Amino acid sequence: MDRPGLVVTGASGRMGRTLVRLIGEAGDRARLVGAVERAGHPWIGQDVGVAMGGAPVGVVVTDDPLEAFAKAQGVVDFTSPAASVEFAGLAAQARAVHVIGTTGLEAEHLERIAAAARHAVVIRAGNMSLGVNLMVALTRKVAEALGDDWDVEVVEAHHRMKVDAPSGTALMLGEAAAAGRGVALEEVADRGRDGITGARARGHIGFASVRGGDIVGEHDVVFAGEGERVVLRHLATDRTIFGRGALRAALWGQDKAPGEYSMMDVLGL
Ligand code: NAP
Repeated sequence: MDRPGLVVTGASGRMGRTLVRLIGEAGDRARLVGAVERAGHPWIGQDVGVAMGGAPVGVVVTDDPLEAFAKAQGVVDFTSPAASVEFAGLAAQARAVHVIGTTGLEAEHLERIAAAARHAVVIRAGNMSLGVNLMVALTRKVAEALGDDWDVEVVEAHHRMKVDAPSGTALMLGEAAAAGRGVALEEVADRGRDGITGARARGHIGFASVRGGDIVGEHDVVFAGEGERVVLRHLATDRTIFGRGALRAALWGQDKAPGEYSMMDVLGL
């Protein structure tokens, strides 16, 4: 098969620019065939390479996602929940693999993405890095081994521009801890403590968020027992790890049957 053609949505965003660069460097593995931004964005009509301050790459930024997706085999999407839901329907129409890195998706968004995944491959992960997905698998194992007399707290830190909290990754880690204990996260999550909260409830999983500066992404899962603590830690120092994971997912998805997949599937974890 020829190199899959990929479209980057939200091309001017932090992850969008990273992906345009990574796909440009992908050589014989993939090629960039489209770049999408919202209507009215100053990049519309410009070559995406030039808009990024470099040499032309032969792809003009468009505000017409369906037109862009129609000539692609994959769509790599790190935008906003509302945009990703719209793109899921359009990517399914075009039978393109849709890789969704967007976080902050609520139940209604997930339902619409699941509907699109009946017709096309959707790969979605709150964190596309190999290290984090390994940490998810470890968190599940440790939670299973230690039981609920060990308190679990998920602490995350991100840059000052991040709009959602806790991070998608923190929620993935919380889900993993809950799964290890055989409980549903919604029933045990403590999100955002403030004031007289009362003592910590046994078996609950707590979340705390730090926001500041240019922190790419840090996650600790703390298992606090009597007289000892186990801490699993992942530090991201460069956002290309997410881009490389997303690119790998877009290539992996090419020969898969329609359905929803995660990075665990892509990485075989
Ligand atoms: P960002 O810099 O704000 O980029 C988002 C981009 O999407 C912006 O260029 C935005 O354009 C564009 N966009 C929003 N709605 C759109 C629409 N309807 N049509 C076209 N483009 C649209 O944010 P970021 O740091 O790149 O992160 C993006 C998302 O990815 C966030 O949800 C973040 O949490 C997530 N993320 C996930 C991972 C992972 O591994 N899964 C890693 C990093 C980030 P405007 O500026 O015009 O709104």
